[in-house]
Amino acid sequence: MSVSRRSRVFDRLLLATGNRHKYGEFLELLPRRAVKDLIFAPELPRTAQITEVDETGSTYVMNALLKALAWSAASGLPSLADDSGLEVEALGWKPGVRSARVFDEGRFLSSDAERNQWLLTRMEGKAGRRARFVAAVVLSVPGEWALACEGVCDGRLAVSETGAQGFGYDPLFIPDGYDISFGELPPSVKNRISHRARAVAALLDIMADA
Ligand code: IMP
Repeated sequence: MSVSRRSRVFDRLLLATGNRHKYGEFLELLPRRAVKDLIFAPELPRTAQITEVDETGSTYVMNALLKALAWSAASGLPSLADDSGLEVEALGWKPGVRSARVFDEGRFLSSDAERNQWLLTRMEGKAGRRARFVAAVVLSVPGEWALACEGVCDGRLAVSETGAQGFGYDPLFIPDGYDISFGELPPSVKNRISHRARAVAALLDIMADA
């Protein structure tokens, strides 16, 4: 695979997500010199919209690739997708790649609050609370190439939800080196050490060396 010098600056890059929190994080993570205009997928014209991509992959990279390829094919734009999850050692590193699709006795848990409560209940009586966030990012330039990178953020699970920053499992996750959760830490700290920050840094490094 070769990446031309020209490809390293994107005048318009589509962020293939409907998650406004992720969009906010990517805005901070991608330098303006590399990405001039980061487009939030729901703000594309109706004709370029696609229905939600089924995340049928068994890995974060496969799911991010499915999303990036589908959106770049539909829009004709270079597209960046992310797939991420929380892995908890005491739960056999689950929910992992299925972090957004948690079921409790067959009932789909559709909100962050329900999933966080489910996790706290599953952790009752468990001694170890080691956990990690994992993110895969895939950048697809339609008809040319796609590039995948992963990032990991190690930490532990809190015993209760704290803070209102971030989204998803953030109020339950205390990154290594800190005593408070991503829900309490300023976004500038999360954006320096998070799984997503590390995946994006790896992607930018490869593109800088290409
Ligand atoms: P997906 O990558 O959008 O499929 O997200 C998977 C699940 O992990 C969702 O429940 C998200 O809320 C959660 N998740 C992904 N990234 C983060 C994060 O940075 N903080 C907290 N929760 C996250």
